[in-house]
Amino acid sequence: MPSEEQHLSPSLNHQHVMKGIDPKLAYSGGDCAAWRRRLRRRVRAVLGDTPAKRVPLNPRTLWKRDLPLGSVEKIIFTSEPYADVPAYFCLPNKSSGPFPVMICLQGHSTGMHLSIGVDREDETKPFPVQGDRDFALGCMARGFAALCIEQRSFGERRELLQERRSKDMCHEAVVQALLLGRTLVGERVYDVDRGLDYLESRPEVDMRRVGCMGNSGGATVTIYASALLPRICFAMPSCGFATYAGSILSVSHCADNYLPGMLKYADMGDVLGLFAPRPVVVVAGRDDDIFPLPAVREAFEQLERIYKAAGAEGHCHLVVGNGGHRFYAEDAWPVLLGEVARLA
Ligand SMILES: [Zn+2]
Repeated sequence: MPSEEQHLSPSLNHQHVMKGIDPKLAYSGGDCAAWRRRLRRRVRAVLGDTPAKRVPLNPRTLWKRDLPLGSVEKIIFTSEPYADVPAYFCLPNKSSGPFPVMICLQGHSTGMHLSIGVDREDETKPFPVQGDRDFALGCMARGFAALCIEQRSFGERRELLQERRSKDMCHEAVVQALLLGRTLVGERVYDVDRGLDYLESRPEVDMRRVGCMGNSGGATVTIYASALLPRICFAMPSCGFATYAGSILSVSHCADNYLPGMLKYADMGDVLGLFAPRPVVVVAGRDDDIFPLPAVREAFEQLERIYKAAGAEGHCHLVVGNGGHRFYAEDAWPVLLGEVARLA
């Protein structure tokens, strides 16, 4: 019998390696602008290749309908060849434009139909939405326009080729992207960028007040999109922000969260720190067991440090809801509205 303790599980080794990692491009004081340039370049590289050229969006309207809170137009646009993006473009009916606008991203779920509270297969039928995930209804109720994007591998963009389907909704797309020098998160961020191109074509929205929000996997893309895309003016990621060690690496998550080598360079607090000085409201759940609160608070401390160094102290907020892994509209929106009022 061996007398020494044996370590056979790969995760034991990874936990050990993780403890020895000291991210090279974490913000540690000094010139914020120079640090931002270096880390942004690196995050772009980690997220992988994007198409060399932007193709025409060719937006097509599929239907238009009035809801009690405003109008919804279902569109589809081309992000890149062989990648079409269904989306809902929503306008509030309470006030006059141009409106502030929010890009709304669902996480691992049945898709963007949740954002407007309708059934996926029959969009004329109301659908009960849990955890305040009816983001666009929340936007319209507060006088915001919304663009709800169907993200790759979710909802209408789930894998439909029978031979490519697997139990995990993202798995095939994640591994194919890696082999191609891309990442699924990088591709989703690119779709958000093309969504911004679409918004530029709509006179009803105010491009000086464009935000991005989402829960869980929607928060993940909100964080990377905000870090990389200068047209996003405010952000509200919910239940997706925490240290990598305390969430992604210690709790089992979808493979799309594991960006190649990211932790060698920076933690999530640094990545979202690239968004400074623009206002951000980080939303967390007190009992969220996949983005645990201590890991959220630790990442938020680094975010606060960066905002302070960028001269934007007080413009990054942490809102903790009294529950689990979900969005908290009544807690989060008032904080965001205070920030957006300053941009008007
Ligand atoms: Zn996934």
